[in-house]
Amino acid sequence: MLDYQVAIIGSGPAGLTAGLYAKRACLNTVILEKNFIGGLVATTYKIANYPGFPEEITGADLTDRMRTQVENLGVPFVMEEVEKITPVGNIFKLKLPQKELNVGSVIITSGAYPAKLNIQGENRLQGRGVSYCATCDGAFFRDKKLVVIGGGDSAIEEAAFLTRFASKVSIVHRRDELRAQKFIQEEAFNNPKMDFIWDSIPLEIHGDKKVEKITLKNVKTGEVSTKDIDGIFIYVGLRPASAFISELIRLDDNKFIITDEDMRTSCRGIFAAGDVRHKSVRQISTAVGDGAVAALSAQKYLNEQGD
Ligand code: NAP
Repeated sequence: MLDYQVAIIGSGPAGLTAGLYAKRACLNTVILEKNFIGGLVATTYKIANYPGFPEEITGADLTDRMRTQVENLGVPFVMEEVEKITPVGNIFKLKLPQKELNVGSVIITSGAYPAKLNIQGENRLQGRGVSYCATCDGAFFRDKKLVVIGGGDSAIEEAAFLTRFASKVSIVHRRDELRAQKFIQEEAFNNPKMDFIWDSIPLEIHGDKKVEKITLKNVKTGEVSTKDIDGIFIYVGLRPASAFISELIRLDDNKFIITDEDMRTSCRGIFAAGDVRHKSVRQISTAVGDGAVAALSAQKYLNEQGD
């Protein structure tokens, strides 16, 4: 006896879209979430490249709208962690902390979380000047000096947000060219509160009760220097939230889930969509596309099962 035909694990844009499409395909659907609804995007202060919002929208507002749309259709949200998935015959048993659910198919949209630098002082001073979320912590750094590590879209966009509060935001990047989209770069180069420390990596974060200094190394010259700072925001890429499924389906070398173009994983009946998936472009628009495809593929799979 099935509790649900489709279980969606994760509630970012991919999961919410999968929920929308699965429910509109008249499938009995549930969305499971262990943290907060909306995923990493919900912590982004400004979304400027999602079509349909010319006036810009915050990540929280956008994901709230997506959530409302899904809730209005009657899709339940279960705020619990899925610890394990076990295939039994043609159903899947989902182990939650207190109970088990029997489901006909699974769509994994568990997303990704910020990578760590793994340098001295990083863990000890997390929450005391070391942060991975500008929208959450930026306002604590009014008129302070900040360093942002990374040269991708996240680092540069979030650094620009931090200039609303900080007196100075220095981008530390390991090369002499940013990875971020050109438009985002132009805005950063024109921001008088931002400067750039090229070809450099952080070696250690110092401070007793809070961040006070950072040691940097120039990778071209080998020169080591120390900079007085009040906070450090780290945006050096994403790690997939795929550990709970790693024994069941094929992952790439970086632990992202491998799918085909229909979002099918190596295990029949399990689909994956969004940032947790091996792919080259990670955008809200691509996550939304993945979510729709995954739900329709799940529908096809369930039809084939005669469910
Ligand atoms: P990312 O694109 O992977 O960029 C990570 C940055 O950190 C790179 O500049 C990388 O340097 C640097 N880096 C990696 N490991 C490092 C280390 N150990 N020490 C120092 N620097 C290190 O990650 P992201 O910016 O978080 O973006 C993730 C995905 O989300 C991307 O696909 C991005 O396009 C997307 N995204 C899009 C938007 C948007 O469209 N507005 C906003 C945010 C994120 P190298 O450049 O030398 O590799």
